[in-house]
Amino acid sequence: MQRAPLIDPFGRQITYLRVSVTDRCDFRCVYCMSEHMTFLPKRDLLSLEELDRMCSAFVDRGVRKLRLTGGEPLVRRDVMTLFRSLGRHLEAGDLDELTVTTNGSQLARYAGELVDAGVRRVNVSVDTLDPDRFAEITRWGRLDKVLAGIEAARTAGLKVKINAVALRGVNDHALDEMIRWAHGDGMDLTLIETMPLGDIDEDRTDRYLPLSQVRADLASRWTLTDLDDQTGGPARYVRIGETGGRLGFITPLTHNFCEGCNRVRVTCTGTLYLCLGQEDALDLRGPLRSSEGDEALHNAIDDAIAMKPKGHDFVIDRKSRRPAVARHMSVTGG
Ligand code: SAM
Repeated sequence: MQRAPLIDPFGRQITYLRVSVTDRCDFRCVYCMSEHMTFLPKRDLLSLEELDRMCSAFVDRGVRKLRLTGGEPLVRRDVMTLFRSLGRHLEAGDLDELTVTTNGSQLARYAGELVDAGVRRVNVSVDTLDPDRFAEITRWGRLDKVLAGIEAARTAGLKVKINAVALRGVNDHALDEMIRWAHGDGMDLTLIETMPLGDIDEDRTDRYLPLSQVRADLASRWTLTDLDDQTGGPARYVRIGETGGRLGFITPLTHNFCEGCNRVRVTCTGTLYLCLGQEDALDLRGPLRSSEGDEALHNAIDDAIAMKPKGHDFVIDRKSRRPAVARHMSVTGG
């Protein structure tokens, strides 16, 4: 049976699903998590089979792009089983892309298996190329391991995009080096503004760096030309004349990109969030577990899409210094 596509109250069709497959991570990036995080009990997590059923229900409803994220998706046990099973939708032509956002720590191990499952592109988060700084930012991460992971991914034939969170006083003076490195290896680089999500150990307002400022600064040294490329994501891209590479800006705070939002997110416990910056959410785990058939699940998905808000309204609140949204990025996935 052909099922109805997912159209929200503002006429936007949902074609992109991001799934956080675990809230756990082998890094503790300072802007993302506190050092001592309490993670969810494993029994609350959707099983790999349930994640597959849920993703497949969305594919039935016209989702063409699936991104697995986390936490760190590649630390979830047996996660390759999920990649392999979701790969069947690519083979059937029901899905255009299956992809992953990763910190790269496990890529050397899994790059080949990802390619076998049908993954063609991966996003890897690297905020700095300075090994000591990298260790400071990630608390538990090692740059050499991540760089080896990226190398393995490229050798296996994966296209790699680098994501870097722009952090005042941390990596703002080293962005030229990041550009040269990424573009020198044929990788796109996307800069992300820090978003006020979840309590962390430090004060985010000190680190917040508006990308409008970064762009103006870069434009004094590089030739930036706006591109119209629609990647199905919120990034706005420029071409850098000197490198020929693409640089993206994800600016949730200085620029609202909600008009064209085509995505929803599901957490590893099956909560469907309609917007990264709003609390609107609906449980899909109950309907998933209530019956073997998918009717209840589809009804819940319809109810949820009918609630999708028009947009988000992040503010880095200097007075209260509280996050705008209480949940961490690792819950909904970046
Ligand atoms: N572990 C994977 C990774 O490192 O890419 C996937 C999950 S991680 C939460 C996804 C992205 O969100 C990373 O690029 C990370 O730097 C970014 N991120 C985490 N917390 C953020 C925040 N508060 N503001 C902006 N970006 C954030």
